[in-house]
Amino acid sequence: MKKIKIGIPRGLYYYMYFPFWCTFFKSLGMEIVLSPTTNKGILNDGVRYSVDDICISVKAYHGHVKYLLNKDVDYVFVPRIVSEEKHKYNCPKLTALPDLIKSAFPEDKDKILTLNLGPFQREEYRFAFYTLGKKFAVKESLVKEAYKKAEKIQRTAERYLHSGFNTLQVYEKIDDPSSLLKNEKNKNNMLVGVVGFPYDVYDTFLSSSLLKRLNDMGIDVLVSNMLDYNGLPKYRDFAPRDLFWYQGNYVLRAGLYFLSSTSIDGVISMSSFGCGLSSIYTKMMDIYNNTHHRKPLLHLVIDEQTGEAGMVTRLEAFTDLAKLKKEGEL
Ligand code: SF4
Repeated sequence: MKKIKIGIPRGLYYYMYFPFWCTFFKSLGMEIVLSPTTNKGILNDGVRYSVDDICISVKAYHGHVKYLLNKDVDYVFVPRIVSEEKHKYNCPKLTALPDLIKSAFPEDKDKILTLNLGPFQREEYRFAFYTLGKKFAVKESLVKEAYKKAEKIQRTAERYLHSGFNTLQVYEKIDDPSSLLKNEKNKNNMLVGVVGFPYDVYDTFLSSSLLKRLNDMGIDVLVSNMLDYNGLPKYRDFAPRDLFWYQGNYVLRAGLYFLSSTSIDGVISMSSFGCGLSSIYTKMMDIYNNTHHRKPLLHLVIDEQTGEAGMVTRLEAFTDLAKLKKEGEL
């Protein structure tokens, strides 16, 4: 029997939940078609099909969906993730994602496979996936089994993430994560913390390969999502209340942790132009840094005009500053 082909756009929540989705759909006997890493063509399509005043991450996502629709898949998976933590919500662009995509590609709207996740309750998540799975599997037991397997692989991926490997490293070895143990960690004498949403930081095209550039400069990197959210301090003396957004809290807490950690030599934040959420957490990081630690801190904002040359110059200036500070010359 011909397998159902399900397209997964390599953007936004792909960088958080791909291990789960991939395992779930594969366990139901479906074939996964993943769009490639963002490239100029994908971004151009994204810009063409999305609304004007939206961040580059969501624009690029439209391009990934277009790529998959051109590949003649049966469905493109576009989840609506409203919430990932109780009483915390996600950005309106993410909660409206299936609507944005359907209105951008009205002729293909029946191919957009979605489900609503949130307000966050573990039982609701399970129920949403069971309901979705039952569309494709005759037996309920098969769906339950697929969900269980998917949860397990997601937990494994997160465990490796929190033990020093970044998302790209974990995804590369997702079929055999134990081989990651052979990886060399912290081999350089400089360590930089990078904060940002995983879909900006790990998209090599949008970020102009920020992580690789730092590694090529002889710098080790810790990305905010490599820290366990539940283990991060809340810095209540500085931020008495949480932000409204889960991902915003994650990045802010990680940023404050990097700024206050003596083992981190400098901090880089990466965010999309026009992102209201990041304008709040980057400002809070500035205030915290100016009043507490005065650590080298660089904010990189990406949009369609971001050029590699400008990025390299700023990175070089930042790393020179961080080295001087580390050596006590500043
Ligand atoms: S949080 Fe910011 S970067 Fe993410 S989708 Fe919303 S506007 Fe875009």
